Amino acid sequence: MNRDELGRLLQRWGEPAYRARQAADARRAGAAGWDEVTAFPLALRARLVEHIPFRSMEPQGEVASPDGTVKWTLRAPDGAAVETVLIAHAAGRRTVCVSSQAGCALACRFCATGAMGPGRDLTADEIVEQALLARARAEATGARLANVVFMGMGEPLQNLDAVLGACDQLADGSEGLGISPRRIAISTVGWVPGIARLARHPATVRLAVSLHAADDATRSALMPVNLRYPIANLLAACRRYCDTTGRRVFIEYLLLDGVNDAPADARRLASLLRDGRFHVNLIEYNPTAGPDRASPPERRRAFQAALRRAGIEASVRRSRGADVAAACGQLALEPQTVQAARPSLK
Ligand code: SF4
Repeated sequence: MNRDELGRLLQRWGEPAYRARQAADARRAGAAGWDEVTAFPLALRARLVEHIPFRSMEPQGEVASPDGTVKWTLRAPDGAAVETVLIAHAAGRRTVCVSSQAGCALACRFCATGAMGPGRDLTADEIVEQALLARARAEATGARLANVVFMGMGEPLQNLDAVLGACDQLADGSEGLGISPRRIAISTVGWVPGIARLARHPATVRLAVSLHAADDATRSALMPVNLRYPIANLLAACRRYCDTTGRRVFIEYLLLDGVNDAPADARRLASLLRDGRFHVNLIEYNPTAGPDRASPPERRRAFQAALRRAGIEASVRRSRGADVAAACGQLALEPQTVQAARPSLK
């Protein structure tokens, strides 16, 4: 139940209008249930406990990796479920990777979520709930939630109203989480109409585009979305985004053994991106049930060096949490994740 719905319910119960804001404040402050909303009279807390779930999504399971990554399964009252990942960095910083859809219709070959098929769009509140859970865990361990990335389950630009609503809440310094928009990244596989809309939105969030191939035949085999929005259309949309916003676009490139990691692929990629508006993140493949394998380290290094020689900024993004299926491309509500669940945060 979002804040407006709660406000209407409380109004029907004869409660003053400010109760909904008090509930939102308590959630942001880390309250775990209605009985911890101390601004409410005891009788109201008891009535809410009886009738309304405190969170829009409840944590149902949790797995942790020795590298500090934590993955939760969260479930909404209607049964829709997603996974959310908290990633640990040095110096007490944490990043949360949030999901925007409970499944995905776009069926990218390398992605476990794509194999699940479509699921419903999450609401803005359900997205923010994931960040609140992650922030509470970060703070409980003396760390700080510094970044939010929309790289979990689903294609964020297919659910852009909710994603932008969530971004506004995440960035809001007085009523939200106060995370700088520059530390919020939205990642798309190339849903072109969404890129144009995102360019017009006032929040200065970062855009990451999963390209993963430098020619249409390879990209279409990996990502069926390319049949609808081929590389030339996608990069033209990215350039319009750069012109409108004055910001760069981050190009994500998953290196797959023998698929897209040859020297000729690096040369083609460099020629596509040669105008200084892009930064390339090379990503190590994390195993899923699909047919692909990770590029060997020497080919990854050669690919990066070839891009740099061509004047393209390129870094390698290290994967974390692969041992608990929490890394890029691995989120899929695996049964063992739920069964192995430990008690949740709160
Ligand atoms: S990579 Fe993203 S868009 Fe592609 S199937 Fe996975 S969740 Fe969907």
